[in-house]
Amino acid sequence: MKSFIYVVILLVSFLVTGQNTYLHCGKLIDTKTGDVLNDKTIVVSGKTILSVENGFVQPKSKEDIVIDLKSKTVMPGLIDMHVHLEFEFNPKTYSQKFTLNDADVAFGSTKFAKSTLLSGFTTVRDLGGSGVNIALRNAINAGKIEGPRIYTAGKSLATTGGHADPTNGYKKALIGNPGPKEGVVNSVDDAKKAVRQRYKNGADLIKITATGGVLSVAKSGDNPQFTIEEIKAICDTAKDYGFHVAAHAHGDEGMQRAILGGVKTIEHGTYMSDETMELMKKHDAYLVPTITAGKEVESKAKVKGFYPDIVVPKALAVGPQIQSTFEKAYKKGVGIAFGTDAGVFKHGNSGKEFGYMVEVGMPAIEAIQSATITNALILKMENELGQIKSGYIADIIAVNEDPTKNISTMENVVFVMKDGKVYKE
Ligand SMILES: [Zn+2]
Repeated sequence: MKSFIYVVILLVSFLVTGQNTYLHCGKLIDTKTGDVLNDKTIVVSGKTILSVENGFVQPKSKEDIVIDLKSKTVMPGLIDMHVHLEFEFNPKTYSQKFTLNDADVAFGSTKFAKSTLLSGFTTVRDLGGSGVNIALRNAINAGKIEGPRIYTAGKSLATTGGHADPTNGYKKALIGNPGPKEGVVNSVDDAKKAVRQRYKNGADLIKITATGGVLSVAKSGDNPQFTIEEIKAICDTAKDYGFHVAAHAHGDEGMQRAILGGVKTIEHGTYMSDETMELMKKHDAYLVPTITAGKEVESKAKVKGFYPDIVVPKALAVGPQIQSTFEKAYKKGVGIAFGTDAGVFKHGNSGKEFGYMVEVGMPAIEAIQSATITNALILKMENELGQIKSGYIADIIAVNEDPTKNISTMENVVFVMKDGKVYKE
């Protein structure tokens, strides 16, 4: 009985005072101003940042914890706007559509979610899978498994034979007639129904494949695949549910229709013309570069048998173009939302994208701002994510070096806190 009372007293005192974590940061990146600050203490209470203090402040209570990051550079948790947590591309991916059940996909995705989180990406946008990605988000939110905070599109929307038609390339007996429920739309009415179905399924946003794509078993990698009326219907309906719309697009015509139709982000943007870049600026749309995926498909297309024959010429044409399009768009002042298409390459390697952005002229600090404040803004989380500031969610990471001096340090994140909980130290 005595020990029971003691435990109760301990518990009550813990609940009253709480246990705070003091992070002693040698360098701290202020993503709002772009400054790298020296000698700061971040005080975290529960899931929230309580305060940011000058110097290395010692805790007031014995229960409090100090984490020594004096030799590190600390910044907010990173946000990748384009991942696919259900898979990691390999030569078996195409046949696995016929062999894996949802449960198999789900177990696989838990591993990909964890490696994403441990690489410093505390929030991601999952831009398409079978719908298992919705259950994955729920499992992470419920604390059943470890992974990033997920905003998911569920299953992407396509037109018949389009990039995200789930039965592309199948033999006739298996092609069937997928419709809005499966994410295939061919009219304005279909478009509305498909969006409402995504809402019902539990998605957070909508992804469309506005043009052909590289890895689908289909001939064109860049033709327009929706009418502007269909895209408008998708974007207008999405608004009713508080969703924004992301559009996969390589070809220019499909991209223009997507922007005029009201999408928020253009994924890849490979053959974007000067005119379309101006259109992006006018309509406040952002380019999600995915340079890492471009590099990956180009190199894997040279490995015999890695991709089906119909994919190889598309990968060789599109892959090398993506980085130079990003360079041009950035220099023209198009908004850049950091995103990689992880899943096309191995999860946990999204940090490489920073180096590719910096390589063609984007200052390191702007690349980091793109992966923090810009992406938080698009997710309408700008008052909770993307900065280390009092009242914000305690998503905090650290790297060994100052990334403004050596950007490759972003590939090696050594400390990860999400929602105030330490996942890597
Ligand atoms: Zn993708």
